[in-house]
Amino acid sequence: MAADRPLTLMAVHAHPDDEATGTGGVLARYAAEGVRTVLVTCTDGSCGDAPGGIKPGEPGHDPAAVAALRRTELEESCRVLKVSDLELLGYADSGMMGWPQNDAPGSFWQTPVPQAAARLAELMREYRPDVVVTYDENGFYGHPDHIQAHRVTMAAVELTGIPAKVYWTTAPRSGIEKMFQTLREVGGDWDEPGEGDTATGEPATPPIGLPDEEVTTWVDVTEFSERKFKALAAHASQNENIFFLNLGLEKFTELMGVETFVRVQDRTGAPAPEQDLFTGLR
Ligand SMILES: [Zn+2]
Repeated sequence: MAADRPLTLMAVHAHPDDEATGTGGVLARYAAEGVRTVLVTCTDGSCGDAPGGIKPGEPGHDPAAVAALRRTELEESCRVLKVSDLELLGYADSGMMGWPQNDAPGSFWQTPVPQAAARLAELMREYRPDVVVTYDENGFYGHPDHIQAHRVTMAAVELTGIPAKVYWTTAPRSGIEKMFQTLREVGGDWDEPGEGDTATGEPATPPIGLPDEEVTTWVDVTEFSERKFKALAAHASQNENIFFLNLGLEKFTELMGVETFVRVQDRTGAPAPEQDLFTGLR
């Protein structure tokens, strides 16, 4: 590792706004510590809400306009989080599992993993990240683009062998029930994953998060929760983010002030659990 090169964090996310919810704290914290922070956003977010909460397929939902709006929001979020480099892979948003957009040509879900991984590997060769963060194999909560981001990232890591440490975002089970309870209190119609729905035929999804003892890395980002909150506020066109914003900063900090990860690759030999993604690297 060259001493004249700053430590580098690369976060690979599926949609504009995922960088704020999942890793807003670590992006802000490490930027403040002088780490180079690279955000790779894989899709254009065109299956998100149009202004007024209009869903894809409904009258008034123009996917190109949604993508343009979400790009502006993403740039504002990066400004707030002081992300040093934003890279867009530009694939079409694949929508939620089972949506027709899953099968659209050019959607991220339809893109062969090796093809997207080759592009991401190029970015890894350019930035030489010490630490890479993405989702687990279920994409944290089963969204096709999140699953694909996981597959593409792990393939690019395999191709390049560059990052010394690789992490998947996770949530401790102890925190998840508290989170859903709070979201219900603020009036979100937030479905708890895992249950499925016999009425609509929606399949049960694997449980999200991990038992607390399997979480390897707990990063305190309390000091940066206002910045994380503002980054999420930049994505206010998306209804689901409004639930989090409705918490208010204090409750948001209480729930989101520690970001948790599972370390899946490590060349440093740093003992776990750890409190810093860069333990063993500085
Ligand atoms: Zn997403």
